[in-house]
Amino acid sequence: MSHWDAIVIGAGVIGTSVAYNLAAMGAKRVLVLERDQIGAGTTSQSSGILRTHYSVIENVVLAQQSWAVFKDFAGHLQDEDASAGLVRCGYLIAAPQGPKLEPLAQSLAAQQAQGIEVHRLSAQEASERLPICRFDDAALIGFEPEAGFADAYLVASSYARAARRLGVKFMEGECVTRLVLTQQTVTGVETTRGVFHAPVVISTQNIWAQELAQWTGIQVPLTPERHKVMALQGPEAYTSAMPVYKDLGSAGMLYCRSYGGQQMLVSEGTAGEALSGPDNTQGDVSMDDVMHVGEQVAERFPSFAEAGLASSWTGVYDVTPDWNPVLGAVPDVPGLVVGFGFSGHGFKLSPVVGRVLAQQALGLPTDVPLTPYALERFRTGQLLHGRYGSGAVA
Ligand SMILES: Cc1cc2nc3c(=O)[nH]c(=O)nc-3n(C[C@H](O)[C@H](O)[C@H](O)COP(=O)(O)OP(=O)(O)OC[C@H]3O[C@@H](n4cnc5c(N)ncnc54)[C@H](O)[C@@H]3O)c2cc1C
Repeated sequence: MSHWDAIVIGAGVIGTSVAYNLAAMGAKRVLVLERDQIGAGTTSQSSGILRTHYSVIENVVLAQQSWAVFKDFAGHLQDEDASAGLVRCGYLIAAPQGPKLEPLAQSLAAQQAQGIEVHRLSAQEASERLPICRFDDAALIGFEPEAGFADAYLVASSYARAARRLGVKFMEGECVTRLVLTQQTVTGVETTRGVFHAPVVISTQNIWAQELAQWTGIQVPLTPERHKVMALQGPEAYTSAMPVYKDLGSAGMLYCRSYGGQQMLVSEGTAGEALSGPDNTQGDVSMDDVMHVGEQVAERFPSFAEAGLASSWTGVYDVTPDWNPVLGAVPDVPGLVVGFGFSGHGFKLSPVVGRVLAQQALGLPTDVPLTPYALERFRTGQLLHGRYGSGAVA
């Protein structure tokens, strides 16, 4: 069959969510084309942290609605076997005196105004939740109990299974080589195997979304950025009951979470290594990198000064100039809907992003306005800059 109601390019956590939502909204013939395998893109590199803490209020809303899905993922997919691998350990975020303090205070207040349960903790209260961490220099500590981490690969594969059950066709090992345009309107895609026709194509290609620029001539302001993640083996446990921790006081704005037993997953939440092209193969994590992050960890988690490196890996972010995604229809290319540029924080938004992109593709009203996320913002200058500067906390 070469005629479809909608075609999705890419089967990461965003594309599979779009595909499921399209089918759940009644689209009958949905095709997903994935050049590799489901979840094999940057989704499988995700640290999996889920929180609604953002300094950009539009992101807070997307994350809040997505959390409601993660909390009842099996119910959402009507599949009792579906699991997000969710660990509901909460999210602690702390800032010392200095430039991050006011943004933190404003963001916590905005979350509360949005109806999200957020507490301001004393250093003593924070220590009770995360005893391996020191909070003596913290001027403000926020705690979001309804937060934690989950498994992005599991979520993508669960979305794919649920979508298949609703009739969606997935073709893996199928690379889209161009969009088929008739008078600059999308009418399908071409792959190495032939042409597939559809009145709407949803591109969820992540770092490979740069291909859209070659295919259509539109500007795709995207830099692939490699980030390094480490699992450190400490002398004491970072249990999964202990919250995710965001250290706004460290040079790298570290984020940390339990990685099971005595291991801590840790990475910097600042800009990474810009790559000249899309490439999510593994890069180097040098001893200098380990020392650089290890020193910051030791500063905050004194017993981890003795930690060893258990494992390390790299992952690539699709970074836009304002560290926020591009979502929705592209007016210059009718029939094209995009979701790219998640800049290291797309997993936590994936349920609702899938829903609104499906709504947009089907010509339905979207649950949240997509204008703030429009591609045009890079032309008009109405950027979605966060208050914390460059980095995935946005
Ligand atoms: C190290 C790291 C840590 C992260 N930590 C977090 C976190 O803690 N919390 C959070 O919310 N987010 C996090 N993220 C971000 C989050 O994981 C991503 O935003 C999300 O997984 C991106 O999903 P995606 O579907 O857009 O992309 P991908 O998973 O990369 O999927 C895109 C797919 O498109 C396919 N594709 C591309 N071009 C074509 C083509 N021409 N034809 C066919 N197929 C094509 C690719 O093969 C790929 O499978 C992290 C990311 C990284 C790298």
